[in-house]
Amino acid sequence: MIEQETVLRRFAAAVEDAHAQLTELDQRSGDGDFGDNLRTGVRTAVARFDADGGSALGALGEVFLDEVGGTSGPLFGLLFTEIARGLAESDDLAGFRAGAGAGLAAIQRVGEAEVGDRTLVDALSPAVDAAEQGFAAAARAAADGAEGTARLRARMGRASYVGERALGEPDPGALGIALLFWAFAAATE
Ligand code: ADP
Ligand code: MG
Ligand code: MG
Repeated sequence: MIEQETVLRRFAAAVEDAHAQLTELDQRSGDGDFGDNLRTGVRTAVARFDADGGSALGALGEVFLDEVGGTSGPLFGLLFTEIARGLAESDDLAGFRAGAGAGLAAIQRVGEAEVGDRTLVDALSPAVDAAEQGFAAAARAAADGAEGTARLRARMGRASYVGERALGEPDPGALGIALLFWAFAAATE
């Protein structure tokens, strides 16, 4: 069984800690709102979960799909919603893998980014593959994928307008994905 509440609280704490870094990275490569978008969504989801209970991933999904702006809001919303669905089917690693895989597919259907475009897909895609080996392996793959975006030039999203300026620093959305997978690994170890 996966303690979704623990995942939510670990993820929320990690997002609070990373807010300044995520903001700075999106200032470099985009418009600077990614840290705020992610933090606002996570805070709202925690408040909703505290009030209503239920599935913590479901609360994240609803809030990000309905209320969080930016390109990342609905894309994270799709991922959270699919993971919640996967865990409702099968409350274990298999359900998580199925959900994260469906989330990746939905994100690529909507956003049309491929691996190598310098987006959150560069963390999520290798993490979904590595989840076959467990939560810790998935978290490592997400972190490595996010770090690897520092060597990539953006072809999608706002970061594509600034080109070289973002080189050398990772994509903020990819780091956000790494925080989520870290939270799952921390909650399941
Ligand atoms: P905005 O550019 O609208 O301000 P955010 O700042 O909320 O969006 O989110 C930026 C993040 O969104 C980027 O760091 C990147 O990871 C992700 N992103 C942008 N475009 C795409 C896309 N087409 N597919 C997947 N992820 C994307
Ligand atoms: Mg932005
Ligand atoms: Mg924006």
